[in-house]
Amino acid sequence: MTRFIDVPALARLVRHVGVDRFLAELARTIEQDFLRWEAFDKSARVASHSALGVIELMPVADAERYGFKYVNGHPRNTARGLPTVMAFGVLAEVATGLPLLLSELTLTTALRTAATSAVAARALARPGSRSMALIGNGAQSEFQALAFHHLLGIDELRVFDIDPAATDKLQRNLATTPALRVLRAASVADAVRGADIVTTVTADKARATILTPEMIEPGMHLNAVGGDCPGKTELHAEILHGARVCVEYEPQTRIEGEIQQLAADFPVVELWRVLAGQAEGRQREAQVTVFDSVGFALEDFSALCYVERLARELGIGQDVDLVPRAGDPKDLFGLAQGPRAGLRRAA
Ligand code: NAD
Repeated sequence: MTRFIDVPALARLVRHVGVDRFLAELARTIEQDFLRWEAFDKSARVASHSALGVIELMPVADAERYGFKYVNGHPRNTARGLPTVMAFGVLAEVATGLPLLLSELTLTTALRTAATSAVAARALARPGSRSMALIGNGAQSEFQALAFHHLLGIDELRVFDIDPAATDKLQRNLATTPALRVLRAASVADAVRGADIVTTVTADKARATILTPEMIEPGMHLNAVGGDCPGKTELHAEILHGARVCVEYEPQTRIEGEIQQLAADFPVVELWRVLAGQAEGRQREAQVTVFDSVGFALEDFSALCYVERLARELGIGQDVDLVPRAGDPKDLFGLAQGPRAGLRRAA
């Protein structure tokens, strides 16, 4: 049967395990899957754009499992009481096509995006980084803050959002993590000044310039998360020139990432190569590094596999008849007729 994990079930799972352990184990799973890069059948996601947002499908598979995510991005949704990003996904068995897991992926996306940011930053940021500016204090922000706190040792956070209520919410939510000092900044420039790492996670369907060249200091690591669609960027293009830019899956990032602003032959390095030791991450202390994050299907695949394992171990979620389980697999019509067809409810 198919295990079904809705939002309350996923939240229960995270509470049971603890956000810090969840992020650490998910980061390890993502890293291990990136190290198996060649084993995956990969493609850039399929996007359907409209005036207010985008809806995307993100498939990926290895020899045993197939996963996909449905996800949207609608920056004006919050004014209508809906999240900017909402998602769900499926994990299936390649040998039969049987769906093993149908899961919410809205909370999971925030966790996997933060875990991936931390994996990239461990390979790119200066060792010993302690302070991070966090620009954009919406739905993703606490997850980013906690991933950098628990997985990199960031203990000072300078936060800024054009919406003060978003920053109030972030400060409230992070008050339960006293080892992470949260400082409220008056502007983006104020937040960024002197930070080791800068995370931008804003939402606007525009060519924004959240960070401009004069804000950037030698040796900074930029974790650019919010620019993830054609026509939606956060960094001034000049910042990218002269920086070491790391991407998830180059064919997708060329279309969606910060590098959409640059020539098609602008040199970038894929994260998996850095993790595998095939390419350098940071090359010198004073180099500016950029993780041009757009979100790649493999991260969702890793998250689906991790959630499925955990849910079965902890007995969270429920088994549902998502596909027919009739006695005679050829008698689909009989199933529509009712119980006389012998619907077999598997344990
Ligand atoms: P959200 O709408 O909940 O929060 C976005 C925040 O950005 C809001 O609080 C808004 O006030 C703030 N903001 C907008 N413009 C700003 C500016 N100029 N300066 C400072 N703050 C500004 O959205 P979210 O779910 O937190 O997502 C944030 C962004 O991250 C979105 O663009 C989303 O598409 C992207 N995202 C990327 C990935 C990835 O894998 N790279 C994954 C998930 C989300």
